[in-house]
Amino acid sequence: KQLEGKIALVTGAGSGIGREVAYLYAAEGAKVVVSDINEKGGNETVDEIKKKGGEAFFVKADTSKAADNEALVNKTVEKYGALHIACNNAGIGGPSAPVGEYPVDGWEKVIGINLSGVFYGMRYQIPAMLKAGEGAIVNMASILGQAGFRGSVAYVAAKHGVVGATKTAAIEYGSKNIRVNAVGPGFIETPLLQGMDKQAHDGLVSLHPIGRLGKPEEVAELVLFLSSPKASFITGAYYPVDGAYLAQ
Ligand code: NAD
Repeated sequence: KQLEGKIALVTGAGSGIGREVAYLYAAEGAKVVVSDINEKGGNETVDEIKKKGGEAFFVKADTSKAADNEALVNKTVEKYGALHIACNNAGIGGPSAPVGEYPVDGWEKVIGINLSGVFYGMRYQIPAMLKAGEGAIVNMASILGQAGFRGSVAYVAAKHGVVGATKTAAIEYGSKNIRVNAVGPGFIETPLLQGMDKQAHDGLVSLHPIGRLGKPEEVAELVLFLSSPKASFITGAYYPVDGAYLAQ
């Protein structure tokens, strides 16, 4: 198993991509701290991991609050003794409107969770990883961390910011045995996209040359690789997992 003996935390692990990352980490032998603002979803993820013989526990945390991120790391270290791997994945879509009409409170909410949340995560994870003598962080960006998208200024700005923060942390901590990377999923079939009508869904599919949307487990496999010792020379990078969305 690739992550035997490692302690990992995943934010937004009560649903979608984060849940699949938590499943894969656990299947590869890591002890997993499943974190989410949604207690029910988080506990379901933990139950499923335990059912399959893995080790996990749930910590409720709102990633947009610095203190919650600090408490999450502290609880991880209290429970399992260290922190080696973190996937900063929690995120929301936010309102859809052109820049000139974008709701200011919506901007603040999206930036708070999708960008500040990733910074707060790293802010407290890195000191714990320095203590452990090693670390691997994978931040959940998006194809919209590399390209603009109508109606989604806050999300696009936050995800571009995640890529920049990832590069900076990688530069600062590369020599300290902490690797930091970002992944950029195309549109993935998760609850984040639910509520969309068929026309809008088909429109999104048409943006992916592969001819379909992605699955959460297809993103999780890349996150697992980047979190594992197999990716030992990979840091400061952004990897799309997008069915050729960005290749066009
Ligand atoms: P999802 O809605 O299925 O899961 C997101 C999880 O984050 C939920 O369990 C939710 O409760 C949690 N969450 C929301 N706000 C939170 C907060 N403040 N603190 C802690 N947890 C919070 O969505 P998903 O599609 O799995 O998205 C996961 C990540 O992947 C997000 O960062 C998203 O931007 C990114 N992403 C998704 C897609 C896609 O098409 N689904 C594409 C690219 C990137």
